[in-house]
Amino acid sequence: ISHADILASVFNAVVLQTLATLSRGRTPSRQVLFCGGPLTFLPSLRRKFIEVLKISKEDVASIDHPELISATGAALAALVSADEGRCVMRLSELRARLEASDAAVTASVSSPAGQTRLAPLFDDDTQRAEWERTRVQSRVKRVTIAEVRGKPLFLGIDSGSTTTKICLVDEAGRLLFNSYQHNRGNALQTACDALAEVSRLFDSVDNPPYIARSAVTGYGEDLLRAAFGCDEGVVETLAHFRAAQAFEPRTSFILDIGGQDMKAIFIDHGKIRSIEINEACSSGCGTFIELFANTTGYGVADFAQKALDSDAPCDLGTRCTVFMNSKVKQALREGAGVRDISAGLAYSVIKNAMHKVLKVTDTSVFGEYILLQGGTFRNPAVHRALENITGRRAICPDIAELMGAYGAALLARDGWLAQQSNSSFSGLQNLDIVEKTRKQMIRCKGCENQCSITRLTFPNGSKFYTGNRCEKIFSNSGKGTVKGSSMPEIKYRLLFDRPMEPQGQPRAVIGIPRALNTYENFPFWCTLLVESGFRVHLSAPSRVGMYEKGVGTITSENICFPAKLTHGHIYDLIEARVDRIFFPMITYENPEFADADGVFNCPVVGGYPELIRSTIDPEGKHGIPLDKPPITMRDTGLLRKGCEAYLGALGVDQKTARRAFERAVAAQREYKQAVRREGAEMIQPNHVHVVKQRAKAIDAPAISALAKSLPVVD
Ligand code: SF4
Repeated sequence: ISHADILASVFNAVVLQTLATLSRGRTPSRQVLFCGGPLTFLPSLRRKFIEVLKISKEDVASIDHPELISATGAALAALVSADEGRCVMRLSELRARLEASDAAVTASVSSPAGQTRLAPLFDDDTQRAEWERTRVQSRVKRVTIAEVRGKPLFLGIDSGSTTTKICLVDEAGRLLFNSYQHNRGNALQTACDALAEVSRLFDSVDNPPYIARSAVTGYGEDLLRAAFGCDEGVVETLAHFRAAQAFEPRTSFILDIGGQDMKAIFIDHGKIRSIEINEACSSGCGTFIELFANTTGYGVADFAQKALDSDAPCDLGTRCTVFMNSKVKQALREGAGVRDISAGLAYSVIKNAMHKVLKVTDTSVFGEYILLQGGTFRNPAVHRALENITGRRAICPDIAELMGAYGAALLARDGWLAQQSNSSFSGLQNLDIVEKTRKQMIRCKGCENQCSITRLTFPNGSKFYTGNRCEKIFSNSGKGTVKGSSMPEIKYRLLFDRPMEPQGQPRAVIGIPRALNTYENFPFWCTLLVESGFRVHLSAPSRVGMYEKGVGTITSENICFPAKLTHGHIYDLIEARVDRIFFPMITYENPEFADADGVFNCPVVGGYPELIRSTIDPEGKHGIPLDKPPITMRDTGLLRKGCEAYLGALGVDQKTARRAFERAVAAQREYKQAVRREGAEMIQPNHVHVVKQRAKAIDAPAISALAKSLPVVD
């Protein structure tokens, strides 16, 4: 996906998020003033706001230096005071105050009253010196190019989301070459650059070694495998486990903290017992520290080293990056030094991992042999903080940041020793692969999403697809996939594939949102209205665009997503210019089974039609009445009464209304029976057997996925 597309997507998300959280149902009206740094210096962001707000350039107020609006306002306020004869402050006084405040900050550093501080990383200098001397005792064995002339070597590549690591080992597992590079947005080029170094190394000797087998792991596994013809792809955790065992066969726990993710592997008697992976929260990872190092004007290495000097690390807690950022700023304002913040962050990274991700209270679960991996442990303060918190020494190999690649290389070697065969690896012969790769943009027509796909065709003829949200049509796995049975698809068809035209001339067109309670009860409402002589117009299926349509009228950030989506559905009906919108207020639902305890709709679902009236106001702002009769579905008698009252108000005679009601009840009942019948058939042994046979025929696993769907999933 191009950088331009990614940035456009980020801007789109910023605009939607801003409108959803700030406008809270109010419609911004002209003139609009865009101010602040991002909106001044990023014209694309401004354009996105203009597009989403549906305003024109003329509706945007233009002022000089909108990025300085707050400072300008403050100066103007001072000017008013001066005009009134009040002197705000002389420059000399301002300077004196600033100097006094600097002195106060300096004083508070030596006496950090009021701030919560943690124990220093070391008791004294002697302890620190001894720890630093013994910190990295586990060193990988190395070998020189002269020692491996003419011999087989084994390549391991760990293509991560931000960095690419490469290791080359010999038959004894000794490391000849390693590389650790930031991807800079192009993992393929980064790998090529490292392989070019390998090539130069080979060229430096007569009778050079050769790559006998290669393995790739990580985020970019499929890409590099296709590009270079790597012999095998390896599961990341297995690569890390293999590398750990090479350093300490008794390893009981591996903690791998990378730039943006964290892996924890619990090992029992040489076997992986359980794995925890965290990719969602970056506050326990390397980029977290990098971010704060940059904020304080230090490089990562210097920032890390500073932590070791801290006498009183700040207690910054264990919150997400955003909250942590304000805690750090507060600590800086209160006079904390960089070394105290750096040490505090090292503690926070480990506490986040322990308490938020692993949720352990008893550190004995890690066992005796803790092994550290990942670039974050290049930071000695994080290593030390872990030992202080767990009360155990931890092994930190000298190639902690390369362990995935090293493990992959060892697994390649293991495979070759078990069965020697020719390698398919072509990376060293294709160092200019990036220029020779053909790139095509195509559109997948596998479903309504119509994903924009990038197809890369490498010189070796293999292909790689990116941009696809599923592998139904385009797959990088190499194996074909056979579609199984999907109950949501069947249910969707049973719900919505039904007649929506009445016999004869329709009385009017009534729109029904495909959302919240009208979703699951659509067979009932559709039949009731069609049988009463109305044409039903159902809002379109939920898509991203549907959500975006209504985002400006969402009043609460915390409301559930189906409720947020409902706004888009109402706008969809307004755009279709239906005559009325039907969105009943249902307090009690129809019991799903005889002994159901509660059938009370949640207040959001029950009351949302009223909220739609006040925020979107279809009648007041768009001239389309919103019908939201209060109806209960718990009791057939009361339901009939509510329906007849509503239809009567629309001019439907009682006889027609009664007949329509009976047919609506039958339609809903038949729909539910059909869902149960289809579901029961799907789990019949015969059906399961057929699916398994189909999977077996293409040598793929058969997968059964069960989940509770939200009422709006479509
Ligand atoms: S890639 Fe999957 S989700 Fe995207 S259009 Fe094709 S079938 Fe649909």
